Amino acid sequence: MSDALGIVHVFPSLMGTYGDGGNVAVLANRARRRGIAVTTTTIGPDDRIPRQGDLYVVGGGEDHGQIAAARRIREQGSLNHAADAGATVFAVCAGLQVLGVDFEVEGGAIEPGACILDLTTRRREPRAVGEVLADPLPRLGLPPLTGYENHGGGSLLGPGAEPLAQVRAGIGNGSGGAHGDGTEGVLAGRVLGTYLHGPVLARNPELADLLLTWATGHDLQPLDAPFVAELRAERAAYVASGKLSPPAA
Ligand code: GLN
Repeated sequence: MSDALGIVHVFPSLMGTYGDGGNVAVLANRARRRGIAVTTTTIGPDDRIPRQGDLYVVGGGEDHGQIAAARRIREQGSLNHAADAGATVFAVCAGLQVLGVDFEVEGGAIEPGACILDLTTRRREPRAVGEVLADPLPRLGLPPLTGYENHGGGSLLGPGAEPLAQVRAGIGNGSGGAHGDGTEGVLAGRVLGTYLHGPVLARNPELADLLLTWATGHDLQPLDAPFVAELRAERAAYVASGKLSPPAA
């Protein structure tokens, strides 16, 4: 690839039903506004994922789409290769599940994942639907994350992966019972996964900038006016208040 930042959008037609394609738009926009040249490559279902990308983005999706995507990612091996070589990989919900060791789909079948992340996913009850507020690992220097979740799988992290955040409202990773185990998302090197939609990078631009910092290898100048942080804090307080949660069944 050229000197431009290479963003690779992995199988959005298989995993893109939750608007997560917006994450690619946010990343490209925030890079370009800083004068960074960007190429965006969209990988169709019959395409091969390139090995030389800088930043791979995998969205959420329904079970059948994620089974098809997982098979392709496993067979091609290029995403594993890129992650091993230090590329930044960002995955949302089904994307997170697909990058794990395996995942259970509706009906009970267990599908092998790409084994890029040390986590397994099993069905959970009830389905996790609603707003989430979560406090990221302090060393990442991020403000609280907000987003919405909608998933029937719950993911259990192994020793090779670290939770991205601790849940303050909502379910998050969702293993270990109806309320989950209090963790949200996953981090392993430069591979970062979350259950948050929104698109999550539109709702949490600081997370977008963290990914861009990893992928470009250098710090980035601030972009947003102070009111952006104020609006985010207002929304976080509203989510924490529980007013956005669906009524109990
Ligand atoms: N199909 C997966 C589940 O229900 C992922 C859903 C999603 O990506 N929102 O757990």
